Amino acid sequence: MAVQSVESSTTSSTSASPSGAFGPAVALSCRECGERFELGPIFACEACFGPLEVAYELPAGDPEGLRRRIEAGPNSIWRYAPLLPVPADVADLPSLNPGFTKLVKADNLARELGVTGELHIKDDSGNPTHSFKDRVVAIAVQAARTFGFTTLSCSSTGNLAGAVGAAAARAGFRSCVFIPHDLEAGKVVMAAVYGGELVGIEGTYDDVNRFCSELIGDPAGEGWGFVNVNLRPYYGEGSKTLAYEICEQLGWRLPDQIVIPIASGSQLTKIDKGLKELIAIGLVEDRPYKIFGAQAEGCSPVSTAYKAGHDVVRPQKPRTIAKSLAIGNPADGPYVLDIARRTGGAVEDVNDEQIVDAIKLLARTEGIFAETAGGVTVGVTKKLIEDGLLDPSLTTVVLNTGDGLKTLDAVAPTTGPSAIIRPTLDSFREAGLA
Ligand SMILES: *Cc1c(COP(=O)(O)O)cnc(C)c1O
Ligand SMILES: [Zn+2]
Repeated sequence: MAVQSVESSTTSSTSASPSGAFGPAVALSCRECGERFELGPIFACEACFGPLEVAYELPAGDPEGLRRRIEAGPNSIWRYAPLLPVPADVADLPSLNPGFTKLVKADNLARELGVTGELHIKDDSGNPTHSFKDRVVAIAVQAARTFGFTTLSCSSTGNLAGAVGAAAARAGFRSCVFIPHDLEAGKVVMAAVYGGELVGIEGTYDDVNRFCSELIGDPAGEGWGFVNVNLRPYYGEGSKTLAYEICEQLGWRLPDQIVIPIASGSQLTKIDKGLKELIAIGLVEDRPYKIFGAQAEGCSPVSTAYKAGHDVVRPQKPRTIAKSLAIGNPADGPYVLDIARRTGGAVEDVNDEQIVDAIKLLARTEGIFAETAGGVTVGVTKKLIEDGLLDPSLTTVVLNTGDGLKTLDAVAPTTGPSAIIRPTLDSFREAGLA
């Protein structure tokens, strides 16, 4: 029924989408009251102001056929086009083609952490702009194109700004992105190098986000698609591809436990959505899985609420080296609490020192240099095992969502040459390195 109402209105309205632009997606639905809306550049429910998400009529009845189709698809997120709000020919359109990153079996790290089951790192630093944000932006760009936006924008904690700048350059959009003015140099340079406009705002991410919401309501923001604000329902769907890839790379099997970093909480909630879809379609066996959320102690509104047994998340003022996760007022916080509790997971946090230690532990054991967000997930995994909340005998996947080269400052003070010597063997021996 939803299909009919969407299709009949697209033919009569000039602003609506050409048929097929959103693939299997049929509507936007309110997460709070379930009210349905036509697919459009809207993000809040008119009835209750709840957040909107994409609703589908997913391919049913032939899981084997769908699995073969996916496996024959491109080595990018577009292999999952039948499960995303994108046109069937999406792989032919200009895009950075993110995704299909490595799932690394982390046996050395497992040994150090006392894990006897399988431990995997899903290493999303391998994306085109070296963070998981390329996934979400790629879907938002498709929606922006369909809605006729000409400028791509976002409020960013750093990685998103670079992902939007790069995607806009490839897809032929103007871009203008907003960040807190005091981010890491690696993130600022990455966000600026693609040639779009980059604006530093004197304030926290939450101030940047508030500013962007004002800009959307102003004539100055006309024609602007903010990937994580007015395109947020589409943007969020990109994170489902992490769930799809993990299961496919495990041989179409659900992991028992996943450890996911939390900024706004969007990624965590959509990974859960993706896993539920795979079960519903019949692509994986229906078994329980546990979802664990990871935060930095210096910005831990969700883990604080989790530990206190609260349903609401009280905003915090961030102070942490994990700047990519520094959202003090996370939009999806309450949904993260629901998911952690429903699946039997937990939400935990680690301090800056533990983050640095975990970055070095992952680098030393597996040769993966994570950004601070990866230090958060690895550090939280260690803590969860020590506290008996994560079962070391099961299959666990830990996300690394970004590249250590963008957050060098975190490890630079405690990482450097073992010695500086003259170019002579004597000098080498004197340094005790022989
Ligand atoms: C944005 C980001 C996240 C998670 O963001 P959500 O807002 O929770 O979806 C995780 N890791 C890195 C490195 C990020 O940049
Ligand atoms: Zn509603």
